[in-house]
Amino acid sequence: MNPNTELGLLLAGDPFCKTHGWMSHVFLHEAAHTVAAIERGIDFTHVEVPVPAMWEANHSGELMLGGVNLVAPPSWTTSADANAGLEMALAGIVAEKGGWGHWLDGGYIGDMRMWARGAGVAGDSISAIQEELERVLGCSLADVMRRTETWVVEAYPRIANVSNALAGRTSNDTPGRMDYANGPWRLSADEAKAAAAS
Ligand SMILES: [Zn+2]
Ligand SMILES: [Zn+2]
Repeated sequence: MNPNTELGLLLAGDPFCKTHGWMSHVFLHEAAHTVAAIERGIDFTHVEVPVPAMWEANHSGELMLGGVNLVAPPSWTTSADANAGLEMALAGIVAEKGGWGHWLDGGYIGDMRMWARGAGVAGDSISAIQEELERVLGCSLADVMRRTETWVVEAYPRIANVSNALAGRTSNDTPGRMDYANGPWRLSADEAKAAAAS
């Protein structure tokens, strides 16, 4: 599988990734969170990728990459739940790395903060979160990262299906240029589950 032909959503002069385009990263990233949630039984209502202008308005410069809208604020009180939640949080950047060779940093910070809130880990900075993280997980961040990488490789076909469905692409052969103003892009939980299984 060559992700470059599969999801080349490149905007000329893209401010975030001139090689692949921001949307290429965003759709794959959100699709990975989505499939991770499905396969770990983390309930969500929908996944949505807003147009870039809406990100700026909603998040004032912090690069929040759309989002999987959970049914309730996460509360991962057991080690098993905290691990599953972290796998879901890491799946976005791991899929970007697998598909495109690198990830966009802002998404990682936002995802780690989201996980930390859900797991009851105090602190906003990555270093503060990392200090408490192993106690909550019962293993290291590197352990969870390795598990997530193995899972993303296995799940990649399903992630690509959801990524295409989210972007409104019916075929991997569709020419790879999309208008950033055409969003928001959204799939309900049922639509996402159907796409993953297609
Ligand atoms: Zn890139
Ligand atoms: Zn994310």
